[in-house]
Amino acid sequence: MSTPADETEDLVDVDPYDDGRFPQFRFRQAPKGLATRRQLRAMELSPGCQEPVAQLVWRRGARMALLYRVDLAKPKRIPTLAQERALDRAMAARQTCPACRHRYQHVLPLRTLGSCLECYDGTVDVAVSIGAATPDIVGTTDLYSLQRTAEAAMYAGKHTGRPVLADRAHTAMPSINGRRAGRPGTSLGVAQ
Ligand SMILES: [Zn+2]
Repeated sequence: MSTPADETEDLVDVDPYDDGRFPQFRFRQAPKGLATRRQLRAMELSPGCQEPVAQLVWRRGARMALLYRVDLAKPKRIPTLAQERALDRAMAARQTCPACRHRYQHVLPLRTLGSCLECYDGTVDVAVSIGAATPDIVGTTDLYSLQRTAEAAMYAGKHTGRPVLADRAHTAMPSINGRRAGRPGTSLGVAQ
């Protein structure tokens, strides 16, 4: 096979025993003008429409990455707001149960079960929220106040997956008959 001279200039290596696959380089031995996808991304670049020209091999061949020419790389694409919205909608569809309409924080087995586990066979996905309050922070040993404040702290951390220790701000959370304001069945009255 013969190649015109002007096309060979950019080739990275000449191996007379090359079996037609990419030239391979070991880690840290790749020529300067080549980079992996990850290295390009670190330079805020993406491969663009070029084909990879070589291969990087490390851990005795256990790990491989394709190498691209840096001079042909394009600026990294930043997703538009519309694209991010579309991604979010796609994720919502994978996390929302079509039976009970609940949106979970994990992807549901919709293709196999068609719904969340609870709708499928009654398995309940249990999650625990923890809030705590101490007299020195709340400023009283009154049990009712401590419980109220601990509950406020628990709601503050409900979706964080972490326990929350109450601070002063949690003592000021409005309550109706001991229930957190804004919950179903509570009302602050006409003045709200
Ligand atoms: Zn469901």
